[in-house]
Amino acid sequence: MQLPREVIVGNGTIERVAEITQRLGFAESALIVAGSKTYEIAGKTVKTLLEEERLKVDTLLVESATVKDVEVVEEKIRSLKPQVVFGVGGGTKIDVAKVSSANQQKPFISIPTTASHDGIASPLSSIKGFEKPYSFMAQAPIAIIADTRIIMQAPWRFAVSGCTDVIAKITAVKDWKLAHEERGEYYGEYAASLALMSAKLVMEKAEWIKPQSEEGLRVLLEALISCGVSMSIAGSSRPCSGSEHLFSHALDMIKPNHCMHGERCGIGTIMMAYLQRVNWRRIRDTLKKLGAPTTAEELGLEKEEVLKALEMAATIRPERYTILNKLNLNRENSKTIVEATGII
Ligand SMILES: [Zn+2]
Repeated sequence: MQLPREVIVGNGTIERVAEITQRLGFAESALIVAGSKTYEIAGKTVKTLLEEERLKVDTLLVESATVKDVEVVEEKIRSLKPQVVFGVGGGTKIDVAKVSSANQQKPFISIPTTASHDGIASPLSSIKGFEKPYSFMAQAPIAIIADTRIIMQAPWRFAVSGCTDVIAKITAVKDWKLAHEERGEYYGEYAASLALMSAKLVMEKAEWIKPQSEEGLRVLLEALISCGVSMSIAGSSRPCSGSEHLFSHALDMIKPNHCMHGERCGIGTIMMAYLQRVNWRRIRDTLKKLGAPTTAEELGLEKEEVLKALEMAATIRPERYTILNKLNLNRENSKTIVEATGII
């Protein structure tokens, strides 16, 4: 298991970046990977604070998360040889920093500027241009510094997407259990419970999670971080990614970059919960309460696109056994699901 050593969540926590970096044993040099916007929002502060403590700090701005971006960052790590790499930003910047630092065997510190998915704390990365459309193992962050004052400035839609990514663990864990029972796959009770507890907490505290509520954002961040840790414990994305994520990946292939990861997973979770005979209505109602999309129309999707994604989902990752493999849906079944759950 590779677990973070320092996790700090709260208002103004970025101020502690130098103290934490030095405590972890990095007193000489660092490389900051950020986007141009996230550099302004948080990267610049990190640089200043580290430089005040006499660290040599270099910065590399990336605007996407492709294989090419990873190569550029790796090249930079090879030439500068920093002691530690910071990923400052939303999902993509953190993913690039995570993979490139892992490939170059350098530790990585995650400083999220949004709370849109569990990648801010997980050992997995999702990079465009690799053969597979889903995430793969890289390394866990050695530290996570989540400053609610910074994350609160991000559009609310990001936090809502983060909530649905957490709620998706209900169906993900159910799929994992199914694979254990029917295929003898390893199932980690502790990792599964941790992911499931995060989902339950976000469901229960949905009323708190609203714009300008720091308390609500904290619940969400702790849930996302716990999900990341559950994957570190499991050694795979199993506790956090099941058929609902396969549906989301399929949809992203059919209509690339059309909506946010959590939004696609939310729609997937409603349908997969229906198939798994769990209380899908409660999930849908909670999503509504949070302001997350619960219909194809709200996501700007055509019926045909949703049906196609449902059919494609089971083929994306054949080794990942889920309810979709068990039921082997045909077009008629898919139509029934989207209509029964009100997605269409
Ligand atoms: Zn996810």
